[in-house]
Amino acid sequence: MSTVENSALPHQDPAQRLAAVWHRIDQAQAASDRPAGSVKLLAVSKTFPIEAVDAIAACGQKAFGENYAQEGVDKASTRSELEWHFIGPIQSNKTRGIAEHFSWAHTIDRLKIAERLSAQRPADLPPLQVCVQVNVSGENSKSGCEPDEALALCQAIVQLPKLQLRGLMAIPEATKDTTTQHRQFATLRDLQTHINQHGLSLDTLSMGMSDDLEAAISEGSTLVRVGSAIFGQRTYTNSDGASA
Ligand SMILES: *Cc1c(COP(=O)(O)O)cnc(C)c1O
Repeated sequence: MSTVENSALPHQDPAQRLAAVWHRIDQAQAASDRPAGSVKLLAVSKTFPIEAVDAIAACGQKAFGENYAQEGVDKASTRSELEWHFIGPIQSNKTRGIAEHFSWAHTIDRLKIAERLSAQRPADLPPLQVCVQVNVSGENSKSGCEPDEALALCQAIVQLPKLQLRGLMAIPEATKDTTTQHRQFATLRDLQTHINQHGLSLDTLSMGMSDDLEAAISEGSTLVRVGSAIFGQRTYTNSDGASA
């Protein structure tokens, strides 16, 4: 993994960038008659150094998201007073670090991963809070279970002792077309309703990022995952050579 310097957005300090994101969240909540405080903000710090995390934490932000297991474990273990959320694809050989150092994992898309996380969660920690990731765009390349598999996966996860199932997560197809944005977010919300009608009580919809958080909040998001609008543009290549 090679990380090149990620620079902050010019002309704005961390407090201003964070305040601008909160302003967007508050406006979107108000526009859809949702009460203040109904959306949680996750600051996605992947690729940014720990000093950038510290600067945002100093503004009162407590919850941070990471995508890459080793980078995330390194940051979470040095700043254990913060709340760490794993939001990247989970390979089965990387579950232990996530189980030991994170409070949440948003990207469970198969039972095998859930079983490993439950088995590896240390006994002295509270259950790992988890979301099932669903592929709402229909793109073959996207991770996440299919919508019609989500209920069965959720029903299996609630049996696991060291996981607490909280909800659903999606990364929709990136598009500027707001109709498509809304349709994909609504798919996830309708799926949550469907699953809860089967006796579960999912309270979390993890959806919305820097470019589409307004659409996500209007469709019921309870947790937005915001990276570049808080930390600045990422210039980054991971070990696969894929840009993130
Ligand atoms: C990187 C990432 C984000 C943040 O994306 P921005 O567009 O920078 O806000 C949110 N969720 C996931 C799963 C990500 O990988």
